[in-house]
Amino acid sequence: MFLFDTHTHFDIPEYDNQRDKYNQSAYDVGVRHLILIGILAKYFPQMVKTKIDADNHYPIKHHLACGLHPLYINEHDDNDLIILDDYLKKFNNIAIGEIGLDTYPKQLKSDTLYKKQIGFFIEQIHLSKHYDLPILLHIRKSHADVLKLLKEQKYRADNQGGIAHSFSGGENEALAFVKMGFKIGITGQITNPNAKKYRHAIKSVYDKFGISAFVIETDCPDMMPLPAQMEGNYFNEPKHLIHVLNELSAMFNMDKALLAHQIWQNTNTALKSNFAYPIH
Ligand SMILES: [Zn+2]
Repeated sequence: MFLFDTHTHFDIPEYDNQRDKYNQSAYDVGVRHLILIGILAKYFPQMVKTKIDADNHYPIKHHLACGLHPLYINEHDDNDLIILDDYLKKFNNIAIGEIGLDTYPKQLKSDTLYKKQIGFFIEQIHLSKHYDLPILLHIRKSHADVLKLLKEQKYRADNQGGIAHSFSGGENEALAFVKMGFKIGITGQITNPNAKKYRHAIKSVYDKFGISAFVIETDCPDMMPLPAQMEGNYFNEPKHLIHVLNELSAMFNMDKALLAHQIWQNTNTALKSNFAYPIH
């Protein structure tokens, strides 16, 4: 069984002292690729360093997805878009992420900050078209606006790929993103029986589109799956991706190996890539 973690913050320094251990234990459960996701321009160098270290030392392939995260809109300025452009030009990025809109914290709803979020989102959609890269979406309490902007910008996920990461919307929103060609990124949240709305949205998408609508992610160090929490872990890491696969296998009553294979193909579709399913 082989897994592709489509959303991690594995570049953060908290992992630095034990990268051998984190890589090995993720490899042992079948993780073969992971994506390092952008938050702030000042962290791009650390993403690149983590990727290069991995290229030299670890069997898990690390990919870059530089981008400017909407939750940190206060900290971005126009120069960061130039830096982003530079990183997209100089380094091999597999996608642009994570980008989108976030109105979960009240202060981000203010006119000025919301407008600034929209501006940065649009600029990054332009970059994604220029470099022909899929976008990895972060959306909280702004699903309708994101859908509207994507339509206005004529972003076609069926052509360009893309993932709605750590999906938090309801059933209708999930269906709308899948109809636009996005894959839904499922995190460890799915293992929480109390996440009823979330589980319901995922089930509805499954009923309509089957397993082809999904990719899986840890979003580490966040989104700890419940079984990992119960084992006494407090810090999420790529090896816990296996809990997401296990839960989906139970939810959809589907053989794990078959499920892993299908999700791998979905990941290729979402990223416009063609990574062969490993043989060992
Ligand atoms: Zn993230």
